Amino acid sequence: MDEGNVENLPKLIITIDGPAGAGKTTVSRILAHRLGYKYIDTGALYRAVAFEVRAAGLSPHDDAGIEKLCSIIHLKFVRNEKGLRLQSNDLDITDQIREPEITMLASEVSSNPSVRRYLLDLQRDMAKGKGVVAEGRDMGTVVFPNADIKFYLDASPKTRAVRRHKEFMSVSSQTLKEVERDIKKRDKNDSTRIFAPLKPAEDATIIDSTDLTLHQVVELMLCHIENAFG
Ligand code: C5P
Repeated sequence: MDEGNVENLPKLIITIDGPAGAGKTTVSRILAHRLGYKYIDTGALYRAVAFEVRAAGLSPHDDAGIEKLCSIIHLKFVRNEKGLRLQSNDLDITDQIREPEITMLASEVSSNPSVRRYLLDLQRDMAKGKGVVAEGRDMGTVVFPNADIKFYLDASPKTRAVRRHKEFMSVSSQTLKEVERDIKKRDKNDSTRIFAPLKPAEDATIIDSTDLTLHQVVELMLCHIENAFG
């Protein structure tokens, strides 16, 4: 899709769901940049709640405590000289939420219905005005069921583990085996939970990125968007 076509594109809601390590974050960032759209990383919001659960010393099974916590945390994305950052009650927590412990806690906390309820409204508010690329697990199924374009990005578990390991090698001491184990556990948690399980929306276009570069994935998506709306 060239610059001219991008300018003529209406302000769409584009959703990208899929399991950990499928390339959603990189692809969503590039796609949003190419289209001049807002990017919403909803995984970061679940990680932020997990961060606050840990900071408050709560158990991930303390439903009442977590519901109360959700009523007093205020999450917002801000752009500054470091790039796109996430603040919780004005504290920048962008780097801390990538710790392996928070990653696993986010997966547990995300099955809590009050957390999902709290983040549902927040995510919809963030998308007001349209022109967004929203990535997560339930974007096309629950949060934006009427999205204009829905993608489900997948890749083999091995490929996803290798990508994740490479991405966090400089900040995490986890071995490839440990990353693979955590990814499998998260896949299971995310796809078997009762509320908003990870699954493709019925009207999603499924892309397997195992043998594609992430730039090729973006080009495929842009072609699809152009065919539908260009
Ligand atoms: O995408 P990311 O790995 O940052 O997501 C962290 C965790 O947040 C996931 O394992 C999943 O449990 C949860 N999540 C979710 N729904 C979303 C986005 C993330 O349940 N829309």
